[in-house]
Amino acid sequence: MAFTFQSVLITGASRGIGLGFVERLAAASHSPKHIFATCRSPQGDTAKTLRELAATRKNVTIIKLDASEKQSIEDSVASVREKLGDERLDLIINNAGIGAPGKLLQTTNEDMIRVYHTNVIGPLNVVQAYHSLITKEGKSKGLAAIVNISSVVGSCKETFAGGLYPYALSKAALNRMTTALSHDLIDDNVIAVSIHPGRVRTDLGSRKSPLSVEESTTEMMQVIRSLDKSKNGTFYNYNGDVIAW
Ligand code: NDP
Repeated sequence: MAFTFQSVLITGASRGIGLGFVERLAAASHSPKHIFATCRSPQGDTAKTLRELAATRKNVTIIKLDASEKQSIEDSVASVREKLGDERLDLIINNAGIGAPGKLLQTTNEDMIRVYHTNVIGPLNVVQAYHSLITKEGKSKGLAAIVNISSVVGSCKETFAGGLYPYALSKAALNRMTTALSHDLIDDNVIAVSIHPGRVRTDLGSRKSPLSVEESTTEMMQVIRSLDKSKNGTFYNYNGDVIAW
């Protein structure tokens, strides 16, 4: 049975893959009732396309959320709660992320901490802040899901390459968070998965990457819509293949 959701919150929705998720969801034939498109600068230049989209779609709400600031994450909850009323939040897509090159001898502690903060502590703080909304204090009926947008470079088994210390290590930690969540939330009917979006042409990815944002997010939406309890704690490629941790 397909995973159906009426509400979804996406981080880092101003551009790239996050914006692609919002576009796919807004254009879907059964578009969710609530699409909470969060970004750190709702009035900033990078969110212009998102603002234009939200102006034409009643179910898209832009909310300020800086993934590197716990207070900002906590402050975002009130707006979501107000829109949801008694309803539960069905899906969180932890997408916001940053990179840093980081060869072995050039990697600084500052780079490690900065990337870890956004890519690991941010998603953790999002789950903590939205815990009661996604579990509805344990009374949730249908399935809910947390999707962490990871990277294959965070796989200990699949990526035999050096370098990328801040970024790759942060994604490995995010993956471990996915497995921990898959244990901690299952009794509340909430599952957690990691998804690698493929190599995508965005500001973070290379302009020579094989996938467009539309291709990647279209395929990832199919993976998300196919989720059920048996998929809990799995690391997926964008096309639905399973990636080894
Ligand atoms: P982009 O650089 O194109 O977009 C990153 C998004 O994250 C922007 O919306 C940016 O917002 C947002 N962001 C960055 N820092 C914060 C923060 N502190 N708080 C809130 N939002 C923030 O990257 P992608 O779209 O390519 O990446 C999206 C996700 O996909 C990341 O987690 C990345 O690691 C992952 N990924 C991407 C791959 C690729 O090939 N592109 C490959 C593997 C994984 P703003 O506009 O404000 O800067």
